[in-house]
Amino acid sequence: MTDDSSLPVRLLFHDDLVGALHRQESFGSELRSQDRVGLLHLLIAGAAPLDVDEAVWFQPDPQSCVVLLHGESQRAEEIAARSGVTGAGLAHYPRAAGDPDRLMAAAAKAAEDARTWGGGLRRAPSRPLSGADPGPLDLDRLGLFYQPQIDVGDGQIIGVEALVRVLDAEQGFTSPQEVISAAEDKGTMAEIGEWALENACAQVAAWRRDAGHEIDLAVNVSLSQFASNVSVERLARIVSNSDLDPCRIELELTESVAPGDLGDINAHLARLRELGVRLALDDLGTGYASLSLLRALHLDKVKIDRSFIANLGTPPPAGPVAARELGAIITWARRQDLIVLVEGVERAEQFELLRRLHCDSCQGFYFSPPVPGEAMALLLAA
Ligand code: C2E
Ligand code: MG
Ligand code: MG
Repeated sequence: MTDDSSLPVRLLFHDDLVGALHRQESFGSELRSQDRVGLLHLLIAGAAPLDVDEAVWFQPDPQSCVVLLHGESQRAEEIAARSGVTGAGLAHYPRAAGDPDRLMAAAAKAAEDARTWGGGLRRAPSRPLSGADPGPLDLDRLGLFYQPQIDVGDGQIIGVEALVRVLDAEQGFTSPQEVISAAEDKGTMAEIGEWALENACAQVAAWRRDAGHEIDLAVNVSLSQFASNVSVERLARIVSNSDLDPCRIELELTESVAPGDLGDINAHLARLRELGVRLALDDLGTGYASLSLLRALHLDKVKIDRSFIANLGTPPPAGPVAARELGAIITWARRQDLIVLVEGVERAEQFELLRRLHCDSCQGFYFSPPVPGEAMALLLAA
């Protein structure tokens, strides 16, 4: 199709879109992932030439282009990267919307949001599940920042942790804590978590494809995401459909897990472990987890809370006490075959002590605070 934005082209596009949605509806779950339908909305800077070889696309105006895609995400990322757009939004049917007009609107909105967050590709959020109305969830205001995770041995970046940020009109990018607690209360946390996992996987896959960076991705998950088979299957599907090797993906659980929940949670975690996904316990030392509970979770990694290193490198008695305490935790974790990451490294002397304690990895403001994707790409390239 040409870039003609005349009415016949628009109508043809609409017909093709309706036909594609109808076919997907008819074949439903028999469809392979590459047969699923998505709409990609590209925002073009100036009069830049477009590099789109998809059969069906049209330009609603000179500054944008809408492409009908078959398949999950990879094509969308390729096209967005090749076309050098200022923002790209992807909306899948029926996940993002159930009819052509709403799907178009969802893709356009995601593209605008992508531009607000500094470019790249952004996926339209899933519609709320049918049944209970979880109330309005403002995913549009959410974005992801990334904080590097560092190999203590050689100081290199080995991974990133994806952290949600909230865009506030007056304060800019703010901490997610309030939004996360509200979402937990309203029962909408799974939606945020799925959105975060999907977008973070796409970002890390794009860094690998575009610049060859082979890094791990850590994503926080809420226990409410393990509440049902349905929500776990959705996580499993996001992992399987991503362009990352699952063993590069690590899910961070917090220590608030109670022994009573363990049976169910473990069954759900097993489903993800089967795929190769790794599991980390976040903020170790701030919750109530017993050692037996930790063993029962079959973890790959523990992330030691930053409160344990606050005093590292300070004068006696606090400094040496902190070093002994941390040394004991690291020794215990190593005996359990757990990888150890220490959070909240803010000073050179803390990092030096982690080296001496043979800690595996760390993260903290000393290396970098959480930063937007573009800034993280620069850190990876440095
Ligand atoms: P977390 O997973 O333990 O993330 C680490 C937090 O420590 C981040 O706060 C990060 O900005 C902060 N931090 C990192 N390095 C330093 C340091 O050197 N010094 C100090 N003082 N702080 C440091 P943030 O981004 O505000 O996130 C807070 C919490 O919100 C996270 O704690 C995590 O539990 C939760 N969270 C963030 N994104 C998600 C998400 O997508 N899903 C879920 N379920 N929870 C999330
Ligand atoms: Mg975390
Ligand atoms: Mg933490």
